[in-house]
Amino acid sequence: MARDVVCSVRNCKFWEGHRCTADAIQVSVDGGGDEAGYIAKTNCHTFAKQL
Ligand code: SF4
Repeated sequence: MARDVVCSVRNCKFWEGHRCTADAIQVSVDGGGDEAGYIAKTNCHTFAKQL
């Protein structure tokens, strides 16, 4: 289990100083399925746009 998640998505409401403050995150394969061919095919579905 990851204790610290480093993130570069500055406009997410869970983002704070390059760290994720969410209790847990969900990461899925971009486009569906359960295998990613490269980094850009993974994405965080816990993202919530900061208003
Ligand atoms: S929820 Fe996802 S996008 Fe938002 S700060 Fe955490 S890791 Fe980054």
